[in-house]
Amino acid sequence: MATPKQLQPWAYQPQERAAALEAGLTQYFTGRPCKYGHVAMRSSSSGTCIECAKKHQKQNLEKRLEKNFVFAAYRDWETDRKSVV
Ligand SMILES: [Zn+2]
Repeated sequence: MATPKQLQPWAYQPQERAAALEAGLTQYFTGRPCKYGHVAMRSSSSGTCIECAKKHQKQNLEKRLEKNFVFAAYRDWETDRKSVV
């Protein structure tokens, strides 16, 4: 019977991640799907699936734009500024 600690994602790939860290790589690949089914590169620093990280980043950005109108206005201004140059 698996304990909760053994079910942590890094428990399944200690060698790959350790090897990636040793080689100084920022990402590594296991070929196994993450808990949301992505077969993608993983971050060496956290072991997080890159696709999941992108998804979280997008969700956080949307939440931030929704709740913080100053940030939303700054982002619009920044986009306009970049399109001019
Ligand atoms: Zn994932």
